[in-house]
Amino acid sequence: MLNDELEARISFIIHHFRKRSVVVRLAPMPTTPSHSTGTTRRDFLKTVAAVTAVAAMGIEDKKAAAQTAPAAQGAIPWYQRAMRWGQTNITEADIAHYDIAWWRKYWKRTRVQGVIINAGGIFAYYPSKFPLHYRPPQLKDRDLYGELAAAAHADGLCVLARMDSSKGHEDLYQAHPDWFGVDASGQVYRSGEFYLSCISGGYYSEFLPGVLREIIERTHPEGLTDNIWSGLDRNMICYCKNCVDKFKDYSGSPLPARRDWNDPIFRKWTDWNYDLRIKQWEFNNKVTQEAGGADCVWVGMNGAGTGGQSGSFRDLKEICARAPILLLDNQSRSSPTGFQENAMSGKFARSLLGPDKIIIESMAMYQHGAPQFRFSAKTAPEARMWMAAGFAGGIGPWWHHVGAYHEDRRAYKTAEPMMRWHEANQEYLINRTPMVSVAVGWSQRNADFFGRDNAGELVDEPMRGFTQAMIRARIGFVPLHLDDLEKAGADITTLVLPNVGGLSDSQVTSIRQFVKKGGSLVASGQTGLFNEFGDARSDFALADLFGVKGGKGVMPTGPRVGRGGAAITDAAHTYLRLTPELRGTVDGPMWGDEPAASGTRHEILAGFEETDVLPYGGSLQTLSPDGKAQVLLTFVPAFPATPPEVSWMRVPKTDVPGLVINENAGGRVAYLAADIDRRYAMYNFPDHGDLLANIVRWAAKDDLPLKVDSPGLVHCELYRQNNRLILHVVNLTSSATWKSPVDQLTGIGPIGISIKLPSGISGGRCSTLVGDSPKVIAGAVANGWVKLTLPSVVDHQVLVVEG
Ligand SMILES: [Zn+2]
Repeated sequence: MLNDELEARISFIIHHFRKRSVVVRLAPMPTTPSHSTGTTRRDFLKTVAAVTAVAAMGIEDKKAAAQTAPAAQGAIPWYQRAMRWGQTNITEADIAHYDIAWWRKYWKRTRVQGVIINAGGIFAYYPSKFPLHYRPPQLKDRDLYGELAAAAHADGLCVLARMDSSKGHEDLYQAHPDWFGVDASGQVYRSGEFYLSCISGGYYSEFLPGVLREIIERTHPEGLTDNIWSGLDRNMICYCKNCVDKFKDYSGSPLPARRDWNDPIFRKWTDWNYDLRIKQWEFNNKVTQEAGGADCVWVGMNGAGTGGQSGSFRDLKEICARAPILLLDNQSRSSPTGFQENAMSGKFARSLLGPDKIIIESMAMYQHGAPQFRFSAKTAPEARMWMAAGFAGGIGPWWHHVGAYHEDRRAYKTAEPMMRWHEANQEYLINRTPMVSVAVGWSQRNADFFGRDNAGELVDEPMRGFTQAMIRARIGFVPLHLDDLEKAGADITTLVLPNVGGLSDSQVTSIRQFVKKGGSLVASGQTGLFNEFGDARSDFALADLFGVKGGKGVMPTGPRVGRGGAAITDAAHTYLRLTPELRGTVDGPMWGDEPAASGTRHEILAGFEETDVLPYGGSLQTLSPDGKAQVLLTFVPAFPATPPEVSWMRVPKTDVPGLVINENAGGRVAYLAADIDRRYAMYNFPDHGDLLANIVRWAAKDDLPLKVDSPGLVHCELYRQNNRLILHVVNLTSSATWKSPVDQLTGIGPIGISIKLPSGISGGRCSTLVGDSPKVIAGAVANGWVKLTLPSVVDHQVLVVEG
């Protein structure tokens, strides 16, 4: 093994010097990518033209083509220009039959600029010189990866060599058992026939670097990626010798005996694991950049949601600080989240990555999810909608097929129209700044140390409740990492904290500053009852802003009330009472004891004039108002739901607050003691969604730059790009009415749109990008707003306002 390593190293050095002396600038190799700056649109178009010209030349000599790969052709590195990708995940059965000629035609007609090709890791698809780099027997001496890479280069495409470093075969395990994870009893962690590799072992520090260098030396891919690069996930504490020794060096302690979020050693182990993965990211880049040049970057695949990232110790913020391009692996919607999830993924990543870097996402062309059928085509409308939602959130497309041969050939027709549309309109789809005034605060550490083993309920659902309610109400927002609050632009006037239980002292300080300067705050549930380790504080950290006191930081154990099925049990048969009560003035039976309507309802309760109660069924925080704040909703405790004869309110009215607002803190503050956000995510009651939207709209003083008058569920994302505005309108009406997959799209319209014009944009020219051809539409400009009507939207529309 060492000889092979040495040989590979020498070969690499010889090759590297040869290559550098001829074509590569003789500058010191940076360990992080040197991002080109100052690239103009003209440069970009020139590069596109050059790439197109090479493709048209039909170069036959594959080696020559490899040497003139797109990376060498222009000043713009591949990761700043390749926005559309494709991936055919090679199976063992493909090896003997791969119809490369057909796939080249498919690359061309789907307008991809790069392809992701299986190279090594669990399976090597080329004749690796490392005997323990497993090659499927069908491969014999064939260099399938190399043939595909050469074909792609000959077609002017970028190549990302794909690895999967998460597992190994029996031979590798037998030769290096210390490279694999073991549990507390010394049993190796396995997944089927494979052994799970440990990130602190030699597989990552000795073996894989040799493989990465070998792949670069053989084929000169533009970059490298890895499907599952971060080793064992959080559910598996590894007790291998490397982990024992390295954790001792890091912490001075033995490994934690078990998962215990209150154990300081387990917390340290969590931090150490994050640290290992960021170091691995940097190390892999050092290896690939030394071997392939500054732009030969390694970019592991990531999820965009905090839950998945937390579970695998991948810090999205730290990764985005290092990644020149982001690869998301999030292939389809889930029933609770809908297509909106894909725009959210893009927005999350983009909030950390900035407006200019490319984000691409693996989008399955097969039936992905639950249930999963790798060889059945996903319905075209389902795939289209997922792609359109991704575009709205700033994600570029990357079609994904498992296997290179499918009997369900409908799958080959799905990507092309959307990819062609993307190509025709790509200039509108990147380098855009969201036009919003609302931010939703989050942090991955909160998902870890407050969410712990229950982050779905404690973190994801409250977030989803608020964000879905805002999408439904067409209120634009961006995710905002709470460590970045002080850097947020002046456009952000309202901060929403959906049950963000764990706040660090510095986050608390910056939230206070934000409100003191006039920013509005909407918070819910346990926000600020814990610190960044999930340890209880003595009261809400923001109690005075909320206008309450007496909060208790009690970490919930087990599911909350009302979970576990559609039925609301007697224990969850609770309500929220609106004040003042109006039923005495509304048509209906009178008992004579109706309270006299005194005062007027707050604007947050607008739309509920004909009811004094809202369904609830959730949990409340313990607190008492401080006397200055106003209580708009109070709790009605549980009473029997069945049998009907006994279903009547035992305690119709209490003073237990469900919603408190405070206007004495600087900006407007609303605190939801009742977990309406989580309930909305769970129950989908329109009342809950309307209430959440009303709260945000009040906090934002209705200063929202977009108004949409439309039937149905439409997801809107508004951006500014230099001297124009770009509005995505995604029609979720069809799909939201039933479960996935959607098989027919139903147009809605007309859709009335009003956009507040920022300085520099007159609104004199409006056009739409989806349709047979770009189309000019009439807009009326008055009082700083442009008003127009979209006659109909089937799947999505993109509106451009300029002039
Ligand atoms: Zn280990």
